[in-house]
Amino acid sequence: MQIVLASHNAHKLEELSRILKPHLPGVELVSYIGPEPAETGTTFAENALLKARAACEHTGLPAIADDSGICVDILGGSPGIFSARWSGPARSDGENVDLLLWQLSDIDAVHRGAEFVCAAALALPDGGEDVRIGTWRGQILRERAGSGGFGYDPIFKPDDTDVSAAELTQAEKDKYSHRARAFTNLAEVIAQLSD
Ligand code: IMP
Repeated sequence: MQIVLASHNAHKLEELSRILKPHLPGVELVSYIGPEPAETGTTFAENALLKARAACEHTGLPAIADDSGICVDILGGSPGIFSARWSGPARSDGENVDLLLWQLSDIDAVHRGAEFVCAAALALPDGGEDVRIGTWRGQILRERAGSGGFGYDPIFKPDDTDVSAAELTQAEKDKYSHRARAFTNLAEVIAQLSD
């Protein structure tokens, strides 16, 4: 069975193929070429569904999509769905991280709790839909640590590791991450389609 990934990001295709493969050996994840909708939703789930629906309608294939970001407790869950453009429309990971570090500069360790959130959505040609949420709890560090990963990884220390997300190997990140949790859960739904 072919499933289209509603993203133009090659890195995401590789990451999700790696996460889904062990759960869905018979599924081929294919890249999407087509229009991407405006992300007008107010939640991760709504935005993920908008992307999955658009790709499903355009290709006629089952489609999956994700929407993700970092939610900081003391900021009331922000940056949240604005994570990619927290510092402005340039969508620069470096500037987003600098701004968040500055905003939290006076905040003690006990109040620096945060979580990555991922909504994984599935849209089917018959109109069926599903969304699964994965979270990854941790703390915002005072400064960057590590050179791997992307986005907010260098300033996020997961509760289940002793190092930042940017210091984990790809395999370690795949074990804990919000994206892995959301898509492992969605894989159970997809597996039933191919039964
Ligand atoms: P998107 O869902 O790919 O649009 O991601 C939204 C933004 O959330 C990204 O630009 C990153 O800044 C941030 N983000 C999402 N997942 C991760 C992650 O696993 N590590 C670091 N940053 C992430």
